[in-house]
Amino acid sequence: MSFGRGEHVHLMEILEHRSVPAAAVSIGLTRRCPLHCRHCSTESLMDSEEYPAEMFTRFAETFTADSHPDFVLLSGGEALLRPDLVRAIAERARAVGTRTHLLSGLFFARRPRIPAAVRKAIDAVDHFSASLDVFHEEEVSRTAVFRVLHELLDAGKDVSLQLVGLGPDDPYLADITGAVRREFDDRVPMLVVPLASVGRAREWFVRHPGLPRPVGAEPCALAGWPVVGFNGQVTACGNQDVMDGKVPLPAHLYLGHIARDDWATIRRRTLESPMVRALRTFGPRHLADRMGAGCGDAGYCETCYTLSRSPDIRPGVHELVRRPSTALVEQLVTRSLADAGALSFARHFAVEGYADLVALGHRTGQEGLACTG
Ligand code: SF4
Repeated sequence: MSFGRGEHVHLMEILEHRSVPAAAVSIGLTRRCPLHCRHCSTESLMDSEEYPAEMFTRFAETFTADSHPDFVLLSGGEALLRPDLVRAIAERARAVGTRTHLLSGLFFARRPRIPAAVRKAIDAVDHFSASLDVFHEEEVSRTAVFRVLHELLDAGKDVSLQLVGLGPDDPYLADITGAVRREFDDRVPMLVVPLASVGRAREWFVRHPGLPRPVGAEPCALAGWPVVGFNGQVTACGNQDVMDGKVPLPAHLYLGHIARDDWATIRRRTLESPMVRALRTFGPRHLADRMGAGCGDAGYCETCYTLSRSPDIRPGVHELVRRPSTALVEQLVTRSLADAGALSFARHFAVEGYADLVALGHRTGQEGLACTG
């Protein structure tokens, strides 16, 4: 049986697009996962919800040569529990010029060989990323993960690691990033993000009290790429509490459903929704404060959840977005985020001191390997 081969896509290329609204769509193909990591952000089990493959493939078929995202990010649960679906979406995406990124927990690394269907799915995507962290290593050994990554690298695959840690002083992060750099001779980029207080982690994660925050504009950089949940619902960001239904879906974050809406519709709503545009430009706390609702001690996303509750906010935001001056600010915010580049974006979200690891193995043309320090 023949199947498509992925192209070369470094993690930096995806991050370079992160500030461009609707440049990518993230799709959770299943909520199921065979692992039981204690920090799991999606609270996945093997009997968790899973929706028909056709719902996802039909949506991918609405990508056209003229209207398609630059990237599709496939995840779960464990996306590779549905290898044929991963492959079908990757092949459809490639046919119209969309590139694919796949994130996996590598459950199959516990076996001596990669199952054939899983290997074909990995071969079909353009970038393969593996999750690894201290909890994950209780389920799948570091040795097994390294073995799979070596096999894929030797076959010419672009790979990366997504690591989760407690913060800059987490000894696990120092250990694992050093081990990865030595093992792969700086060929594997790493995105190192802080543990979020979501999913199973909620039970034991203690959030450090933050400093009082100003209510000046704090644009939400995550409200740019639509996220398709495992149930087909599309939201303006991948906030896990919203995706899991732990927080009632705020009306202003709802962009549609892939059973009814094609990519062109989702893209248009992402670009044109006044509330989503205002979140990208000003952030939720500024909007709440400006519209007179106040935000008290509520956090950033917690304030966002409340924006649809006050009847006065939506008309006020719509009026704000109609102003020519707002369009100008919006352009400036988008351009300055784009100009800041992939590393700047990584520095915003990664654990302090680890952001530059996203550039490992990235050839810049003039500088050779971008991150060798
Ligand atoms: S502020 Fe709103 S749009 Fe941005 S990440 Fe939080 S919940 Fe999502």
